[in-house]
Amino acid sequence: MSEFDYDLFVIGGGSGGVRAARVAAGEAGAKVALAEEDRYGGTCVIRGCVPKKLMVFASEYASAAKEARAYGWDMADGDFHWDRFKEKLETELDRLEGVYRKLLKGSGVETFDARATLKDAHTVALSTGEVKTAKHILIATGGRPVRPDLPNAHLGMVSDDIFHLDALPKRVLIVGGGYIACEFACILNGLGVEVTQYYRGAQILRGFDEEARGLIAESMAQRGVDLHVGTDIVDMHCEEDEDGLTAPVEVTQYGAKGVEEVREVGKPIRVKATNGKTREFDAVFFATGRRPNSDELGLEALGIEIGRKGEIKVDGYSQTAVPSVYAIGDVTDRVNLTPVAIREGMAFVETVFKGNPTEVDHDLIPSAVFTQPELGTVGLSEEAARDQEEIEVYSTSFRPMQTAFAEGEGRVLMKLIVSKATRKVLGCHIVSPGAGELIQMVGIAVKMGATKEDFDRTVAVHPTMSEELVTMRNPVRTA
Ligand code: NDP
Repeated sequence: MSEFDYDLFVIGGGSGGVRAARVAAGEAGAKVALAEEDRYGGTCVIRGCVPKKLMVFASEYASAAKEARAYGWDMADGDFHWDRFKEKLETELDRLEGVYRKLLKGSGVETFDARATLKDAHTVALSTGEVKTAKHILIATGGRPVRPDLPNAHLGMVSDDIFHLDALPKRVLIVGGGYIACEFACILNGLGVEVTQYYRGAQILRGFDEEARGLIAESMAQRGVDLHVGTDIVDMHCEEDEDGLTAPVEVTQYGAKGVEEVREVGKPIRVKATNGKTREFDAVFFATGRRPNSDELGLEALGIEIGRKGEIKVDGYSQTAVPSVYAIGDVTDRVNLTPVAIREGMAFVETVFKGNPTEVDHDLIPSAVFTQPELGTVGLSEEAARDQEEIEVYSTSFRPMQTAFAEGEGRVLMKLIVSKATRKVLGCHIVSPGAGELIQMVGIAVKMGATKEDFDRTVAVHPTMSEELVTMRNPVRTA
């Protein structure tokens, strides 16, 4: 008989926590409990990847209809009905949350719909008043969007709010140039919203390959996103008083849990930008980054180290400075992607419950940004690679057959970065429709250490866009 109530107590029912709990209970036979204070499925399923991707699909039909006409179809322009989509979306998210709960139950995991905090290295206190002990505690509490520190920032919404809107705004300002900003600029533009985007840096999608960033920025502008780089908000107000300035007015919730300060719906927000212009928008959407959910969990009192951004410090096995406490996923701010959190959860179970110490391999992770067109990427950008060693760059940008036939302007990019010394493909960057799907496959080859010559001896699939990846004969430049 164990001295603890459980072998494992997991805090957080998102992708990482649920997977670790299920595998520890179902495969390793551990006695497991999990506490979640909000909805099961976490950011990815409830307010991130899944609803976002469904919105991407919804937003692509407007241009599909236009293209269909060029292909000879009678296709009238129709209106998008947010209320119809939202109702279906909510039903789908309810279904998925049910699936998550069922999976946990089916694996024998006991669940608590409560907030959990750590009392000591083996004890968890629940908001229900219950106190539970466990041999191991796994923190998988994820992250949350943050607003920038500027006057009246509470007037703006964040990504959690967008799925709860009663109606789509007519004019939106998106602030930021990262994944979320660019994805939602494309989504809302596709759904018929007038989108302006302010990004403080010189080019959106910092950290990605520059040629890819440039093409995405150009495509977004072509499709109607009013993108301003080197631009940020100085000030924002909702209702003018005699001085021309205001205090925020009375509130109607945007809908997200925990957000109390909001604004009166229907009143435009006046935004003064660093370019000196003041413009009005019906909504401002901050996509200015996320922060790990490590606050008020009782961690520091236990001696668990927290980094400057709020991230829980862990070693390669996801173990904190307190040996019985582990942390995985966005709360550790390593690579903030759902499949990575899941990998970290599985590696934790291997290490702690299966006697097989396993570090998570964070190298060469393929990923996609679901802009229109998408960006699929794996490995090093040209800029990062050339800082590291001598390289050859193979790159081609062209109008794909489908778009060209419809006289569309959109171009795609297929790009390989190759090591001169080893001939290995160090990076691949694809900007095209479906790039997320393509990069998954290229990711396998790159992870296996494929050389440029391995790509070359693979026969092209014709006619496709991605055949260019195996037919680029000469480097466009060396560096
Ligand atoms: P990112 O860190 O990608 O981008 C944040 C953006 O906000 C940057 O452009 C940053 O500018 C800007 N910014 C930050 N602070 C301020 C400020 N005070 N004022 C103005 N601008 C500011 O965060 P996201 O929120 O877009 O995404 C968070 C994470 O979620 C991503 O890193 C990714 O890991 C994950 N994600 C993954 C997706 C996918 O796989 N498709 C989709 C969505 C999210 P600067 O560049 O100058 O720092």
